[in-house]
Amino acid sequence: MSDLLEMRKVSVTYDTYSGMVQSVRNISFCVKKGETVALVGESGCGKSVTAKSIMGLIKKPGKISKDSEIIFSGTNIQKFSKDQWRKFRGKECSMIFQDALVSLNPTMKIGRQIIENLDNHAKELSKEEKEQKAIEMLTLTGIPDAKQCLMKYPHELSGGMRQRIMIAIALITHPKLLIADEPTTSLDVTIQAQILKQMKSLQKQLNMAILLITHDLGIVADIADKVIVMYAGRIVEEGECREIFYRPAHPYTKALLESAPRLDQNGKQMLRAIEGSIPDMTNPPEGCAFCMRCPYAMEVCAAYIPEEKKISESHRVSCWLMDKRAEREGTNNERSQKNL
Ligand code: SF4
Repeated sequence: MSDLLEMRKVSVTYDTYSGMVQSVRNISFCVKKGETVALVGESGCGKSVTAKSIMGLIKKPGKISKDSEIIFSGTNIQKFSKDQWRKFRGKECSMIFQDALVSLNPTMKIGRQIIENLDNHAKELSKEEKEQKAIEMLTLTGIPDAKQCLMKYPHELSGGMRQRIMIAIALITHPKLLIADEPTTSLDVTIQAQILKQMKSLQKQLNMAILLITHDLGIVADIADKVIVMYAGRIVEEGECREIFYRPAHPYTKALLESAPRLDQNGKQMLRAIEGSIPDMTNPPEGCAFCMRCPYAMEVCAAYIPEEKKISESHRVSCWLMDKRAEREGTNNERSQKNL
């Protein structure tokens, strides 16, 4: 599979009254054609800001650093004009959000909202052809009686149905990349499963890549090919789904996995909260940002950012524990054991 999206050293800051918030810090990753990549991490770790940077939605007081490069199908989209952005959004790359009720226009019928996307990107189609396409897409997303649905307003539909409408709007132009920001968080588990299944099947039919943003590791295990773990604006670990779930290397990834419920434990598993909170991003630590919460922290961790190490061709991690040069004495863990 070749690269569809390549993020190269992307940084995003927000100028606020409390100072410059460093939301995304020097991140690099790729999404291949047809691949599903999950971006995971706690709230505030930079996942959604990363998504917005791909869609060109970073507005003042936000700013993408000048040396950031976002390459989509071989073109640096950072240099797009307004007109190029308009053509890109919704056609090459679409995004769906967590809350469909907020994202859909409450005063406009569903049919109009779906067709509006075609008005922008498929002007050559007649009104009847657009309507037919809308019906086909609604049917593909699992909406029964799609023709009837075109005449309804968002408030007349259930949460699950509204989310399917969002997917239909996003996919009607057959984008190469779908960014799904917590797409099923507000739905109950059964509907969640149905929608994810539908998304996967549409992905196959349209040969589309998905960048899934979520804090739900259950969803990740179900549908992702690759997982990228973010913490305090940086990527701390990246690997194939099974590498992250079976051989996590970063203490933060391990802590995330230990804090998620697992079906194979028959309810006997003790869930562990990750103690502490993410650092103040107006003044993040000089070294590893997880330092204050990490039981394995060493002196070097607070002073220097760990270099990225390759564990396998697809698995990389940024942690001093992976570096032979790091002094292994005096971790927080050992100190607390001595106190016991
Ligand atoms: Fe913990 Fe140090 Fe690794 Fe950061 S670099 S996760 S503080 S061991």
